[in-house]
Amino acid sequence: MPVYEYRGQSINISENDSEYLGYFEAAREHRLVVKKCLDCGLLRGEPGPGCPWCTSLGWEWHEVSGKGTIYSYQIVAHTVVPAFRDWAPFPIVLVELDEQSGQPNPGDGLRLTANLLDGNMEPENEENVAIGRRVEVVYMDGEDGFTLPQFKLSNEPPRDQVWRYQT
Ligand SMILES: [Zn+2]
Repeated sequence: MPVYEYRGQSINISENDSEYLGYFEAAREHRLVVKKCLDCGLLRGEPGPGCPWCTSLGWEWHEVSGKGTIYSYQIVAHTVVPAFRDWAPFPIVLVELDEQSGQPNPGDGLRLTANLLDGNMEPENEENVAIGRRVEVVYMDGEDGFTLPQFKLSNEPPRDQVWRYQT
């Protein structure tokens, strides 16, 4: 697999990578996948070889809907990463996917971190970002075959209270 360019950065995903290769192969086909534990069956969005619930090292990729709710967010005002300097200020969202919400314990959920983009694939305006707003996955296709799953606000009404930091 080649080295990709993303916003002037090199992204190298080797052929024997077990952590991200399948994720980006699915992304190229516009599918969002997470890890599913082969022992307890629970899904997880965070990187790492072991299941956080039962410590099993057995897992497989599992396709999810890409629909969810903003669980939390942060506005990046200054970035030390040169590739994102012209984006700042921009939002980063913690998305709770619809799958596995409240499991295995109340308060748990299947959560992913991503940029929140608008219809032009630019960072969403800060005033539109709020905890509780509904989002869906969107795929940012690079010219060299690299695709990055991101999220955008969806047209669905919120399912619960909406809250944002007062600025
Ligand atoms: Zn498990």
